[in-house]
Amino acid sequence: MTLQTTIKAAKENGVSERYAIMRRLAFLQPLIREKMSEIGLATKELEHNEDPLERALITARINELAVELHPLRRESTLLLRYFNGKMKPGSSNAITDEMIEHARQHPITRIVAFSSGRKPTCCPFHKDSNPSMSLYDNHVHCFVCNRSWDPISAVMEVEKVSFRDAVLALQ
Ligand SMILES: [Zn+2]
Repeated sequence: MTLQTTIKAAKENGVSERYAIMRRLAFLQPLIREKMSEIGLATKELEHNEDPLERALITARINELAVELHPLRRESTLLLRYFNGKMKPGSSNAITDEMIEHARQHPITRIVAFSSGRKPTCCPFHKDSNPSMSLYDNHVHCFVCNRSWDPISAVMEVEKVSFRDAVLALQ
């Protein structure tokens, strides 16, 4: 679901955007917490499990969860930013949805380096000696940090800039 879907639903149902966003966040945030804690538990299990088959199954489960988590976090971030008025549509220095989408399409491998085989790489966001950062579509997930980054959040973290500046940097 996108930010626009929520705003459109608010209009159609005659409620304020803020109310609709709060309701959507109230749905998304527990779901995000649940998936993150599942990933955390599975990661812990992996540390203590030596059985190769079980390890493969747990890793596959973690990967599935990370893939499910990504769009939820992305939507939640966008809703929060809109809610906080950091991205007021129509204001002169606003970044547009097209600009955000364009930034998200920027190849993340230009921000975080991966081998040509797309094998896990060392995470640049913690002291990593055993590659724990995996590449999915156009985002990365570190199983030690227990976090995902898309091109925008990766630039925010690497360059220590705001969401808006990261979007602008990726145009
Ligand atoms: Zn990490």
